[in-house]
Amino acid sequence: MYKAYKFRLYPNENQKLLINKTFGCYRFIYNYFLDYCKNNGFIKAFDMCNELKEMYSKYPWLKEVDSCSLRCAIFNLEDAYKNFFQKRSNYPSFKNKYSRQSYRTNCIRSSYKGCEYSNIGLDLKNRKIKLPKVGLIDIRGYRNKNEINGKIINATVVKETTGKYYVSVIVEEKELIKDKITPNKIVGIDLGIKDLVITSNGEKYSNPKEINKHEKRLKRLQRKLSRQIKGSKNYQKTKEKLGRIYSKIKNSRKHNIINVVNNLIKENDIIVSENLKVLNMDNKHNITKLIRDASFNKICEVLKWKCKINGKYYYQVDTYYPSSKTCSVCGEKTDITKDLNIRNWECKNCGTSHDRDINASINIMFEGFKLHYGN
Ligand SMILES: [Zn+2]
Repeated sequence: MYKAYKFRLYPNENQKLLINKTFGCYRFIYNYFLDYCKNNGFIKAFDMCNELKEMYSKYPWLKEVDSCSLRCAIFNLEDAYKNFFQKRSNYPSFKNKYSRQSYRTNCIRSSYKGCEYSNIGLDLKNRKIKLPKVGLIDIRGYRNKNEINGKIINATVVKETTGKYYVSVIVEEKELIKDKITPNKIVGIDLGIKDLVITSNGEKYSNPKEINKHEKRLKRLQRKLSRQIKGSKNYQKTKEKLGRIYSKIKNSRKHNIINVVNNLIKENDIIVSENLKVLNMDNKHNITKLIRDASFNKICEVLKWKCKINGKYYYQVDTYYPSSKTCSVCGEKTDITKDLNIRNWECKNCGTSHDRDINASINIMFEGFKLHYGN
């Protein structure tokens, strides 16, 4: 199982210089071979790597940076072509120096006289990472961890448009999976319109409040950006501000989701949710729907993985199950909930008054119960 660890990087001035140079060389190699392939037809990464060896004499400044990262640029380009050939993405485009900058480098291991050597090293105790050519750099993140058990596969260094540096390290880890427990608590969860998650126990988890505030600022800045001259200094400043707000929203969503999932798993043994496809809202291009879908996908993904390692159970109810249309007490169907503004309704058959979302999550819970016990 591969896991990504993302750290904030604090390079000193010399390291910054070298990292920025590496971004430049990485981009140069990528664009050089993209241009070559555009004019002469696609050639394999193996042949590009051979060509790269020849290029060092013509462009001696390439020697200053991590050579492994330059080969990564070539493999990156080959992947972009593969995606294009298999119709997964558009034709590769040239990298420019105005957007987010990045380079990847692979971890190479060797042993010499019984000593293990590796070009990338993580030292969480002293909060340092070793990167080829750049050397030891200060890092921040994962305060509660002292070490990472596993083999480092590669590292990607990024400079965001905000000017901050990050490194994302991919580690191959063996997950500690607990034995399956005997369940005695089950919960159904529904994705709300107003709230993030509503449980069949009647609990509601909302989105962090600060997101609203950030989103208002985001809209204002986007309007501002559209009025500014592209490439100007002020345009760049606004773009940096936008980038900072985007990452704030992303982070607070992520942390909130992990909190919600941790709570659900602590309290329950079987967790049941809908399959996202069931939520056929009217407007596919509605931005709030897109964000909600992304959150929901993320919740499902985290639930699936956390249930697995904690020995708990996670089920997804099939797409056609009408959870919001059915009375969870008597099973009577209603059309009244078609109107998304209806928050509370009363069952015509048994007279129970329902909270729209809690009723739906109870139905989802019952469906999961059937799935688990098979009847
Ligand atoms: Zn009823």
